[in-house]
Amino acid sequence: MIKQLVILSGKGGTGKTSLTAAFANLAKRNIPPIKAVLADADVDAANLELVTQPTLLEAHEFIGGEIAIINSNLCMSCGICEQVCRFDAIIPPNSNHPAYQVDTVACDGCAACVYQCPEEAISMVSQRAGSWYHSDSLYGDLFHADLIPAQENSGKLVTVVKQNGRLKALDTNAPLLIIDGPPGIGCPVISAIAGADLGVIVTEPTPAGAHDLERALQTIQHFHIPALVVVNKADLNPAMTDAIKTYCAEKQIEVLGEIPYDSSMSDAMKLGKDIIAYNPDLPASQALILIWNKIIKYLSLDGGLT
Ligand code: SF4
Ligand code: SF4
Repeated sequence: MIKQLVILSGKGGTGKTSLTAAFANLAKRNIPPIKAVLADADVDAANLELVTQPTLLEAHEFIGGEIAIINSNLCMSCGICEQVCRFDAIIPPNSNHPAYQVDTVACDGCAACVYQCPEEAISMVSQRAGSWYHSDSLYGDLFHADLIPAQENSGKLVTVVKQNGRLKALDTNAPLLIIDGPPGIGCPVISAIAGADLGVIVTEPTPAGAHDLERALQTIQHFHIPALVVVNKADLNPAMTDAIKTYCAEKQIEVLGEIPYDSSMSDAMKLGKDIIAYNPDLPASQALILIWNKIIKYLSLDGGLT
């Protein structure tokens, strides 16, 4: 049975991807090794590929939804579509363009204009919203994606990335799917945590970090996904780290560990490496190894690391 481990954070920039890449490396180094498939579900800012050195195997278009187009040969310029569109997506004739047209960014795809146009001049067309990819990476199969700016449906794209990761894990008998989740609490996060066996929430010891942790925990608990917490850069604000630990204790949420601040984390990123590959003996790496051992125990996977 495949175990799904999703790494989350209340906001971007907490070190979520660095930790995901480190866990992918630790799965490979585990004794015995744990075959893992990786899914970068942070499709709005995918960067797991920056530290896993992927070789592209497949690329696929992602069709996010439909938008309206107007056939100017049929349009009689009655203006009804402009009146019914609640998204201000119909552009009336102007000096640059003599016919009614659709603002493809503003169009929500509701199709109200299609039903109301007396000339049947409007139709809906599929729109490419991004791409998703399958790559071979340092730590196994990686599924990742990118979304065209201003395109929506990132929750749907997250589901596509995750589903393909899960299918690959099934095909290759990989017992673990490691998901780099999107930040925040929105629709993409809900897609990323669906069906997860464990959510690890990465936070920082700041008032904003504590607030974001609270919101992330509420979201994950709402969907009955078990959650554990990691405090990154814990030594930068020991009082706030203690406050986060107290909060978690009150909520009966285990704090898996604290990672000390280490500028090597970003140095490693700049070199396209995770912190374990950069130097497994650093205090931050050692903290991650202890956290990893707890995670695989929680997921009932074999072995561990010393
Ligand atoms: S409702 Fe149809 S005919 Fe009227 S302006 Fe819009 S596209 Fe043209
Ligand atoms: S499909 Fe909906 S949002 Fe798009 S132009 Fe028509 S009415 Fe407006």
